[in-house]
Amino acid sequence: MKSSDPQALPLRIPATALPAPASRTDGADAGWIFNIQRYSLHDGDGIRTLVFLKGCPLRCTWCSNPESQGLLPEITLDEKKCLGRDCGLCIGQCPAHSLAYGADGIVRLNTDTCRQCLQCLPACSSHALHAFGQRITAARVMDIAEADSLFYARSRGGITLSGGEPLMQADFALALLREAKKRHIDTLLETCGYGPWPALQALAGYCDGVYFDIKNLNDTAHRRFTGRSNRRILANLLALRRHFPHLPIHVRTPLIPAFNDSWDDIARIIDFILPLADVSYEILPYHRLGSDKYRLLGRPYLPGDIRLPVETVEEIITRTRRRLGRRYGPDGTRPVDEPRTPRSLL
Ligand code: SF4
Ligand code: SF4
Repeated sequence: MKSSDPQALPLRIPATALPAPASRTDGADAGWIFNIQRYSLHDGDGIRTLVFLKGCPLRCTWCSNPESQGLLPEITLDEKKCLGRDCGLCIGQCPAHSLAYGADGIVRLNTDTCRQCLQCLPACSSHALHAFGQRITAARVMDIAEADSLFYARSRGGITLSGGEPLMQADFALALLREAKKRHIDTLLETCGYGPWPALQALAGYCDGVYFDIKNLNDTAHRRFTGRSNRRILANLLALRRHFPHLPIHVRTPLIPAFNDSWDDIARIIDFILPLADVSYEILPYHRLGSDKYRLLGRPYLPGDIRLPVETVEEIITRTRRRLGRRYGPDGTRPVDEPRTPRSLL
């Protein structure tokens, strides 16, 4: 779970910018993103541009960006905006016959048969149809990011690669990081840690910092709530510390009801990271920001209405702070005499 909400600046693909089919084979320097968010203050030092890459190997039940999970664009149809039988223009555009009128005269999307070809989008002037995802080159992303280089210089900011999971498009992520370094832009990687070590190693070589999610040390619970074992994730964190001893690593844990909401769950994670030199740590309180997107995507929001009492969250954070001291929070690896990041330049 990432702390910023990409929905804040939704990326709608204008019909004129839809990728031609040939652009899907345009090499490792291009990839799929679902948002670029400028002026972020919460995902790394200073003022940052967040680049959200498509694709994630995990299926966390609480994911606040479900539109990020598939590698290709995800098509949604907002029935409230559909003009129905007064329009119907999209239906004839669909080669997969995935669009059809429902009994109420409003169009329905069959996500099981949709091939994500995007051909229906230009037909929909009411924006009922929407694609989460855009094919883009690394150079184009960095052109957008570089426009804010003055802000980065004054706030010690830069770009943050997020997702989804950047390791799912490792070649594209590497191209982005290389391009950023060529332009002297500070780079941060946000990762769930699940991916091949050689890919993570390659990316880390171009990073000024890594935000690394550790969700649960209990592998059974991890498999149940994310769909994957935690073993590769834990091994990757250890390897990252060993191979990059000077790279700032900040571990984060989203606090999720019924998954890792007890002090014992968090204490086990702290025990795991404490022996790792210069690794800071932070708890991310649970939020339900993504729940509405599940409706649009036609998927159930599995956590339902379950919430964590504020007192529980506060108590766990207080105990965590007490155990970690100044290693709690994103500034936890910074030397004591180094000034904290200025955050008031906007
Ligand atoms: S993206 Fe393509 S396959 Fe999916 S509904 Fe639109 S036209 Fe049909
Ligand atoms: S083009 Fe858009 S508004 Fe028109 S029927 Fe299709 S989904 Fe509805």
